[in-house]
Amino acid sequence: MNTHAGKTFNVPTHPGTTSDTISERMSKAARKDTGPELAVRHELHRRGRRYRVFVRVPGRNRRTIDIAFTKARLAVFVDGCFWHGCPEHGTMPTHNNAWWVVKLAANQGRDRDTDEHLANESWGVLRIWEHVPAAEAADLVEAELDRLAAERAPSRARSRAGAPADPPSPPD
Ligand SMILES: [Zn+2]
Repeated sequence: MNTHAGKTFNVPTHPGTTSDTISERMSKAARKDTGPELAVRHELHRRGRRYRVFVRVPGRNRRTIDIAFTKARLAVFVDGCFWHGCPEHGTMPTHNNAWWVVKLAANQGRDRDTDEHLANESWGVLRIWEHVPAAEAADLVEAELDRLAAERAPSRARSRAGAPADPPSPPD
């Protein structure tokens, strides 16, 4: 299977969990609603930000957005350091190394593909490593929401900058 032209990311079945660490990682990855992602969601909720979870990525129906601001069209992903290859904490298991190299590269290829698809649908994308503290992550999300709001309201931005305000629109 070609991993680029077809935009599919097939990975052979794992040859079997080989250590407690890896099976632990795999079971952690299966529990979507725990840990850092939940902490970021709670912090955003506490700040009065409302979002949706499990929103499908347009055109990529088997993938979901971790934290979706549908009105603002901002997709936030809280990426696991191991699964998504964090430069600080990403590691490559030595056991079954060849399988893991393919698997983790496929994950990262899928992330880039997801980002492209969302951008094509006019979504902003913000990826935050799971190691970022929840309060700091929420700050990043709020800053991006503000930035997108300003970017998408050009007439208001112009009048704030001192240019004459647009004349009122005539009634229909
Ligand atoms: Zn990390």
